[in-house]
Amino acid sequence: MQKYNLEKLVLGTSDDHLCCLNENAFKGDLNQKKCVFIHTEVLPMYQKLKLFAKSSDIELRIISAYRSFDQQLKIWNQKLSGSRPVLDDFSRPLDISKMDAWQRIRSVLRWTALPGTSRHHWGTDFDIYDASAIPKSYSIKLISSEYSGGVFNRLDTWLDSKDAESDDIRTKFFRPYKKDKGGVAPEPWHLSYKPIADIYHKKIDIGFLKRQISNSEIIERQTILQRLEEIVETYVFN
Ligand SMILES: [Zn+2]
Repeated sequence: MQKYNLEKLVLGTSDDHLCCLNENAFKGDLNQKKCVFIHTEVLPMYQKLKLFAKSSDIELRIISAYRSFDQQLKIWNQKLSGSRPVLDDFSRPLDISKMDAWQRIRSVLRWTALPGTSRHHWGTDFDIYDASAIPKSYSIKLISSEYSGGVFNRLDTWLDSKDAESDDIRTKFFRPYKKDKGGVAPEPWHLSYKPIADIYHKKIDIGFLKRQISNSEIIERQTILQRLEEIVETYVFN
């Protein structure tokens, strides 16, 4: 593996490890191209997985891959300032204005990683869907019901199924948020390239994170810093 500055990479403050993946965004609209950034060494593995998916008539696509610390910070601040909805477990908007700071933070953390701890910083992780399964004007919601029994049920089953031919590549990808472990809400659409992601996961360092958060304009910074160990324990290492 190439040498990257792992501290910066893990925190989402570098992009040397990325390359652009240009795949058709939606079925039926070949002109609509969308560049997503993924890890240079993960790209050939993803292409391989995509080929195997195609042999089962699944058109694997990435809807979201790399996000930087600043992009994650923007989402975080929008949620805590009320300009972007904070959702409950059933994807219904929550009124966070009457909550105390820690309750507000926990409500956001259910669906949104604390900047500096998102697996999307690494380029090894992405949100996927099956372009062959959606009607032309369908807009993807990324909710659990789409994956269990919904439009992406076949993709969901395919990701877990086994066959000798594709096992070599498929077992290298896993879904870290498939089940609810009390921290992050289930995200069956989130796929991770395990061999590299595991390395970065081990590199998460509370000291680096504390420094990065302290130097950022993050809403609820004080409470985040006070509760940082607990946040990392529940939402990152759980
Ligand atoms: Zn994701």
